[in-house]
Amino acid sequence: MSRVIYHHPEDQPAPAPDLAAGEAVRDTRGRPLRDLRISVTDRCNFRCTYCMPREVFGANHVFLPHSALLTFEEIARVAAVALSQGVRKIRLTGGEPLLRKQIETLVALLAGLRTPDGHPPEITLTTNGTLLARKARALAQAGLTRVTVSLDALDDALFERMSDSGVPVATVLSGIQAAADAGLAPVKVNMVVRKGMNDAQILPMARYFRHSGHVLRFIEYMDVGNSNGWRMDEVVTGADIVRLIGAEFPLRPVQAHYRGEVASRWAYADGAGEIGLITSVSQPFCGDCTRLRLSPEGRLFTCLFAEQGHDLRALLRSGAGDQVLRDRLAGIWQARGDRYSELRGQAHRDHKIEMSYIGG
Ligand code: SAM
Ligand code: SF4
Ligand code: SF4
Repeated sequence: MSRVIYHHPEDQPAPAPDLAAGEAVRDTRGRPLRDLRISVTDRCNFRCTYCMPREVFGANHVFLPHSALLTFEEIARVAAVALSQGVRKIRLTGGEPLLRKQIETLVALLAGLRTPDGHPPEITLTTNGTLLARKARALAQAGLTRVTVSLDALDDALFERMSDSGVPVATVLSGIQAAADAGLAPVKVNMVVRKGMNDAQILPMARYFRHSGHVLRFIEYMDVGNSNGWRMDEVVTGADIVRLIGAEFPLRPVQAHYRGEVASRWAYADGAGEIGLITSVSQPFCGDCTRLRLSPEGRLFTCLFAEQGHDLRALLRSGAGDQVLRDRLAGIWQARGDRYSELRGQAHRDHKIEMSYIGG
C-alpha cells in the first residue's frame, strides 16, 4: 500500500474515535453524523430557474468529465466508512441522479453494506422523475427504500417554464405512480415554492395529492448557490402555507418520526393523508443537522452552504487503507461547526457550492 502524504499539518487527522455499535462521531456542536447525501452527477436534463438557470448553465457550461467522477466502487467505499462512523441513511441525488448510467448497480452495492450493528442502510433517491417510470422497478429490485420526486406545478405551461424543459407534468406523474407500484412508497413529492412564480399552485397541488398515499412537501425557496438571484421577498413561509391549506382542509400537527427530521408534519383532520413543510429559511434546523454531503468527484461538504469541500478522491486513489479513510472522515465531521441558516443575513458568502452540484 502506498503511503499517504499530508501537505499541511492541520490535514493530519486525529484517529477516528472508538465507537460502540449504534454510536456516531459528533461535531463541535454535539451533532451526530447520521445521513450521507451522495451527488452522483452535476448534469441535469432540466434547467430549473431556481437551481440551474440557463443563463449560467447554458451550452458553454463545462460539466465534470466522466473520469473525474467517483466510480461506484469508490462511492460504496466512502459510504462503508461513513456507516462505520454513524451514518444510517443514504440519499442519492445530483444533478439528476437517474442520468448516471446503471445507477441501480450503485444502489445494489450500497444495499449490500451493513452498519456496525448489522443493519442495512436506508437508501433513498431524489429525482425530477423524468426517467422514473423506466427505472423504478430496477431501483426497487436493487434495494432502494424510497424516492422523493420534485414537482413544482400541475399546470403544464408553468411547469415547463419553471423547469425550463419540454417535459409535460404527466411524465413526472407517471414516474411517481411507477415508483409507488414498484413498492417505493410512500413517495414524497417536493414542491419548491417561489412567490409570484408558483404559489398559486399550492392549493391545486394539495387537492391533487390528498388521498393519493403520496406525501406532498413544501420547500421554502433557499439562497443556495450563487446563480439564482435569491431574494427574501420571494420566500413563502411554511406558516403561510399551513394557513392557506388549513383554511380549506383543517390540519393538525403530527410528531416528528425522529430527531433531525427536516420536514415538520401536518395531517389532514379528515384522514386524507399528510403534508410536510421544510422551513429552512423561516425556521432553520441547523441544531439538528446530521448530514454530510459527498460531491460527484469525491469532495466532502459539511453544509449545503459551504464554500469549500474536503477532497477524498486523492486519498481513495492513493491506495489508502480503510483506517486512514475513517480517520479523515471522522476528523472532518469532528471539526464541523456549520450553522449557515441560523446565521443567514450575517454570514455573507460569495462562492457557495451550487445545488445542482451537491444535491438537496
Ligand atoms: N434533480 C433532482 C431533483 O430535482 O429532485 C435532485 C437534485 S435537486 C438539486 C434536489 C432538490 O433540491 C429538489 O427537490 C429541488 O427542488 C431542490 N432545490 C433546488 N434548488 C433549490 C432552492 N433554491 N431552494 C429550495 N430547494 C431547491
Ligand atoms: Fe435539475 Fe433538480 Fe436542479 Fe431542477 S432542481 S435543475 S431537476 S438538479
Ligand atoms: Fe445543515 Fe448547513 Fe442547512 Fe444548517 S445550513 S441545516 S448546517 S446544511
